[in-house]
Amino acid sequence: VPEFDLIDTFVSALPHARAPKGPGDDAAVLGELCVTTDALVEGVHFTRPPFTLADVGHKALATNLSDLAAMGAKPAWWLCALGLPRGFTARQLRELAAGMRPLARAHGLQLAGGNVSQSPVLSLTLTLAGHAKKPLLRSGARAGDLLYVVGWLGEAAAGRTLPAFAPAQRRPTPLVAEGLLAARFATAAIDVSDGLLQDLGHVLHASRVGARLEAARLPLRRELLRHRAALDWALRGGEDYALLLAVPGNRAAALERAWKSRTPLTRIGTFTRAPGLHLDGEPVEATGFQHF
Ligand SMILES: [Mg+2]
Repeated sequence: VPEFDLIDTFVSALPHARAPKGPGDDAAVLGELCVTTDALVEGVHFTRPPFTLADVGHKALATNLSDLAAMGAKPAWWLCALGLPRGFTARQLRELAAGMRPLARAHGLQLAGGNVSQSPVLSLTLTLAGHAKKPLLRSGARAGDLLYVVGWLGEAAAGRTLPAFAPAQRRPTPLVAEGLLAARFATAAIDVSDGLLQDLGHVLHASRVGARLEAARLPLRRELLRHRAALDWALRGGEDYALLLAVPGNRAAALERAWKSRTPLTRIGTFTRAPGLHLDGEPVEATGFQHF
């Protein structure tokens, strides 16, 4: 069953709010708070090794922070529900926390509560809340807007094959400051967790527009370009935690002038009135990582 059908099945069986207050964006918008939750489960999202406990802690916080980044929200509080295997020690718990601490400190995140239970495998379910006066929704893109990507593509997928890129997969960098800056110019955003095409597909669906992409513009590191799979990693690989932005043409120059981050900001295409996704003029499916 596709993940998104599962979500629909569950949500439609319950009283629920509509996006942006309810399910359907990177975070729920509750007043001026954006709230997101995400789980990391041993054997599904990571194995030990190659992950250390510090890697697991880092990644759990990073993936949730990335969802706040995609809303243009400033991180504030978090809750943490831990499922710990029998025999998990205090020392191991400190190692897990040590992997989270740098990100929590860097982004001003205060732990506000949580839960610990015994579990057959290690699992971490985090809920993060951040402030955004004008959150970036998936539904804000308009035909004619320019499509930008913040960050590099394909590195995490490459990390499953190329040892040099393995850290990109274990230690993603959430682009929080970049999301906050982008929120002053962009009208829509999403983070690339399941692959560029699939995540862009969510924006197209929510905004009822299409998009044209140019392969030659995709931000790929030179070391990746030598590999035949590079384009596929960039389009469908997932776990890059880059940000996709829709930026109205008359704000694009101001965004590029304001950009001070070392993380690249790259224009890769245009949103169109015609539905569907086109890569170099050819139609492509909005598919990527399948969770189920
Ligand atoms: Mg997301």
